[in-house]
Amino acid sequence: MENVIQPPGPILHEETIPPGRPYASVIKRQQVLRIVDLEGQQGVDFLCYNAKRPEERYHAPNTLKAAKTLRMGKGHTLYSDEARALFTIVEDTHGGHDTIGGCCSAPSNAMLYGVKDCPGCRENFLEAMAPFGLDRRDIVPNVNFFCNVPVFENGALAETVFLPSRSRAGSFVDLRADMDALAVISNCPQLNNPCNSGKPTVIKVFIWQRE
Ligand SMILES: [Zn+2]
Repeated sequence: MENVIQPPGPILHEETIPPGRPYASVIKRQQVLRIVDLEGQQGVDFLCYNAKRPEERYHAPNTLKAAKTLRMGKGHTLYSDEARALFTIVEDTHGGHDTIGGCCSAPSNAMLYGVKDCPGCRENFLEAMAPFGLDRRDIVPNVNFFCNVPVFENGALAETVFLPSRSRAGSFVDLRADMDALAVISNCPQLNNPCNSGKPTVIKVFIWQRE
């Protein structure tokens, strides 16, 4: 595909994730997960866990306190509740990834938009993590790659919370695993707010080896 910049090391796995679908895989320490927004303006919800002991998992406050920003970019580390590094963003052509908007879900779609039976990323997370023995109790506030959730000076959020993503076709983020880590992805299906600019699209993931 023309928009894809190939990883700079051996590719161990590559997979295309259709719009609105989930994905999960264990990334070994020092391997890198590349997530590519093939067509642009696509939100990608992300959770991660210690693969060997998944009660240790992504922790937003530790991550934000270490980064001293609400928005993730190159050089930032995703920390666990035990304040250990799960993944570090070693390359990023987008920048400013959201950490506060959380995942969409059937209940929140009903609450916010009055739509019934409209599943979202939470349901995708549940589907993707089930084979790894994880369930509802394991879902915590997640990172939203390529999502645009501005916070205004008075602390207010936008009327739609999510604004259209500024991600361009081919934007990617490289996440180096700092321990053997389970990565869980939802390629967001949301149509009730502009986080996918009204058109969920395909993404691609690579797992590649750093040399
Ligand atoms: Zn979503």
